[in-house]
Amino acid sequence: MPEAYACRRCGETYSLDQYEDDRFCRECGTYLMPERKIAKLGVKIGKAMVRKSRRARSKDKWLPDGYELRKGQVEFISEASQALEDGRIFLGSAPCGIGKSLASLIAVLPKLEKGKLLITFRTRSQLYIYLKELRALNLGFSAISFFSKKSMCPLQVKGSFSYVDFSEECRRLKENCSSFTKPYCKFYWKTLRKKWDAEELALDCASKILSPIESVRVMRRQGFCAHEALKAVLNKAEIFLGTYHYLFNPRIREVMLQSLRTDLSSVYVIIDEAHNLPTFSRELLSSQLTQGTVERALSETRRFRCKTSSLVKECLGVLENQVFERAQHILKSERLKRVRPEELGDHFISQTNFSGIEVGDILQNYGEYVKQKRNELGHENLLSYTHKIGEFLGDFFSKVENKYIHLIRRDWEGNVLLEIRSFDGREITDPVLQQARGSILMSGSLSPLKVYRDLVLYDQDDANLKEFASPFPSDNRLILAATDVSSQYGKRTDEMLAKWKTYIEAISAASKGNVATFFTSYDMMQRTLRLVEIDRDIIIEQRNTERNTVVRQLKKSVNNALFGVMGGKLSEGIDYPNNLLTCVTAVGLPYATWNVYEKALIDYCDIQFPHNGESYAYLTPAILRLVQACGRVHRSPTDKGVIIILDKRITHPNVKQQLPSNYQKELQIIQTPNEAARKMRLFWKKHGQTL
Ligand code: SF4
Repeated sequence: MPEAYACRRCGETYSLDQYEDDRFCRECGTYLMPERKIAKLGVKIGKAMVRKSRRARSKDKWLPDGYELRKGQVEFISEASQALEDGRIFLGSAPCGIGKSLASLIAVLPKLEKGKLLITFRTRSQLYIYLKELRALNLGFSAISFFSKKSMCPLQVKGSFSYVDFSEECRRLKENCSSFTKPYCKFYWKTLRKKWDAEELALDCASKILSPIESVRVMRRQGFCAHEALKAVLNKAEIFLGTYHYLFNPRIREVMLQSLRTDLSSVYVIIDEAHNLPTFSRELLSSQLTQGTVERALSETRRFRCKTSSLVKECLGVLENQVFERAQHILKSERLKRVRPEELGDHFISQTNFSGIEVGDILQNYGEYVKQKRNELGHENLLSYTHKIGEFLGDFFSKVENKYIHLIRRDWEGNVLLEIRSFDGREITDPVLQQARGSILMSGSLSPLKVYRDLVLYDQDDANLKEFASPFPSDNRLILAATDVSSQYGKRTDEMLAKWKTYIEAISAASKGNVATFFTSYDMMQRTLRLVEIDRDIIIEQRNTERNTVVRQLKKSVNNALFGVMGGKLSEGIDYPNNLLTCVTAVGLPYATWNVYEKALIDYCDIQFPHNGESYAYLTPAILRLVQACGRVHRSPTDKGVIIILDKRITHPNVKQQLPSNYQKELQIIQTPNEAARKMRLFWKKHGQTL
């Protein structure tokens, strides 16, 4: 009997000839297996089964077993589905608890017969939520998820390489596999040699909806590179999950779409944590150069000599002297200064006779020579710092429109950086969102929605906006705003610090359970903390504090007081489950530090969004940081707690209207620490907890 082959997912069968012609199922793209092997594995298959399951779920029984319908979830599904039907971009501001990840999947999955789905996120924790929901839905879709190639690499070639350097190294190790030269990548070599086995295993990972780390573990055990094998079968999966880079970085997107064998017009996208998108896209268009890179490039010129090495040295010397040495004097009291590209260009002309752009080219050409030499000498590492600087200078002298600013800055470790920063990420986000077959952008804090829409799209008419109410009972929340305090510059006097101290102590005494206090900066936190006396175990956020350690510590007792900063790692992207925090106090409004960059950003936004520059560039990011911090209390419908904002500016109509609608409705004004404590005691008494 000739061997028969079957698809273990939809049950389609094929003859040996058909199998040899194409080893993937013509119906659903799954890798084919001998029928006897499927029987041996005891895998239940059947096209009818898969389709029936999808049909049944896509109507009324879509909720996976063990899930409960949540307030707002159905509304989210219908609003998002309608927007996709109408070919419009959907922006949803959906607070914690709506179940928006599942809702967004339900909105898109029924449409996948005509396309693929790309789910993108900023932080890895979001990936696990989607994987969990996809597995729970159990609709027979296969999903491939990626972290960066570097973090999925089973070889220890990571070291302190930057991502770009790692990619180059990986490319070289792969190239060496084909030319049989050392060093080579043994995982890639086996993935090539046992292609079918590697791809079959990768498809298995996809059908089981494994996380990147789980796939790496499975594939590494067989000696395969998970990243390469998963990439090779990407076109067989319906769903792809990865960080923003996969969608918004043009180079990475192109490679990903090639692997998917499709283009954006066939791809639905879900963009989670979309409040990050304006900043992410601006950063993608920005770049920076450190003094350390210039020093490493100078040592390259000593090591790799050629006709142009002394000219290259001269050019690098201009950077060293005119930028980094001078910065030591310029940046004495300030951390940030604007620089004019023409000024640096003039220095290059007067000292080397070449323009800035020409210097960029000279450095890149020399960098190519360095890479070639390193290769000839059998170096493990092929990167060239001079090449990097050449690329940076190319950008520095060509990105001169008003949407860019050139800066010299000292970071918190004292390093000096030369930077080009973009004010406008729409040239990255708009084309992607317009070209995709359908886009859902969502977050717990996209408030005000129209600001986020305008920061990612050129045309306001292309999007449907929807703010969803918090599904958690308002009775479980007390939101207070103090009008006798402010973190406004000029008001941060000793008297104000003393008032904050009194508030923090009164709030602590009137609180039931762990409390958190978030400040506008580390400096304000330290200065206030010196005065505070409370009878609780104190946890203070440091730059190297780990989130898990803090959560573990909070779980040990209900008598902790956590102190951190808004916009920091303990006030955003961290879950405090099971009412781990019962009170968050925001000390002040977390506006960005006022400097030449912020001023220029406001001016630019004022031109793009007339009369709204300050609101778009300065107020909205501050409100985001504030709401993120305050949102740490209520993580489930049963969580109860108090949110206190210690800044009278939050009650000003133009500021208050930027808050999510439930904050606007529920905000109660207080004028003294005693009043705060009294209201808090009443709140806890109402919930049957006296202090
Ligand atoms: S091919 Fe895979 S295993 Fe080899 S270096 Fe690149 S990422 Fe690492």
